Amino acid sequence: AETILEIRDLRTHFELEDGVVRAVDGVDLDIRRGEVVAVVGESGCGKSVMARSALRLVDRPGRIVGGEVRVRTDTGWADVLTADGRTVRSIRGARVAMVFQEPMTSMSPMHTLGDQIAEAILLHEPVTKAEARARTVELLGRVGIPAPERRAGEYPFQMSGGMLQRAMIAMALSCGPELLIADEPTTALDVTTQAQILDLLRSLQRDTGMALMLITHDLGVAAQLADRVAVMYLGAVVEHGDLADVFRRPRHPYTKALLRSVPRLGARPRERLRPVRGMVPPPYRRPDGCPFHPRCEEFMAGRCDVTVPPPVTGPEAGRAVRCLLYEETRA
Ligand code: SF4
Ligand code: MG
Repeated sequence: AETILEIRDLRTHFELEDGVVRAVDGVDLDIRRGEVVAVVGESGCGKSVMARSALRLVDRPGRIVGGEVRVRTDTGWADVLTADGRTVRSIRGARVAMVFQEPMTSMSPMHTLGDQIAEAILLHEPVTKAEARARTVELLGRVGIPAPERRAGEYPFQMSGGMLQRAMIAMALSCGPELLIADEPTTALDVTTQAQILDLLRSLQRDTGMALMLITHDLGVAAQLADRVAVMYLGAVVEHGDLADVFRRPRHPYTKALLRSVPRLGARPRERLRPVRGMVPPPYRRPDGCPFHPRCEEFMAGRCDVTVPPPVTGPEAGRAVRCLLYEETRA
């Protein structure tokens, strides 16, 4: 399938009093039409900032300092980072939409659900208020909200977390995006509701054919939904490739460690589960060389603490890995 989003060397920094935090530090990522890509990694690895940067939704003191984010439009590629405000607004929602972990924070408490969704439709499309209204009710029904006609008249505080997340998804779908970015869409919900929302995302993705970028710290969730996976560590994608392939034969020591930390996915039957050793370092203390080296079980002194590993592709098709060992295994 053709590529619809191309992220190249994306860098977003937070300029704080005590120094600069390189939250996103050279991300490369492509999304193709209709595919599901999971972005995984521990919290604090820059997944959310990366996704927000892709839509230029970074607030101060954060600043996008470099890179390119290209979105395919009817008239060619648009670079979100350099486009004028009108173009960026036309991309948001209509081509690339986003849902967040906390649905409440992206809704206005002052307006009914129906009004907010109808307004999003009116912003992007030349329809009448009545048409926008009808489509809103239809959308609320499609995301599994019972009695959508009535619920459209309710305010966010009247809804449960799960219903609110459904409403957020309805809003995100309102302009028929080609790509939906879902940032930990189920993390704030109870387990049963989590499963329902994941099912909903999966069936909406299949029905509409839209691509989905699913950001999650939960490898089980990634395994259930995604075709491809991108593993992030300290602001960069350290490994990406076909999900089944990466989970079966992880190459980056961080991916290996993540998989060993969860039941069933990566651990071999007799291998004990164990958490990734150490912790994500504090943001100001970025290790020299390979950013993962203080935690890496395959650390090579004199190399890993000196050289920043570049992304290397192959020998496996479609795989890219940022580890000096992978370079050596190259055919
Ligand atoms: Fe580990 Fe070295 Fe590879 Fe970094 S480059 S992941 S420290 S082996
Ligand atoms: Mg996050």
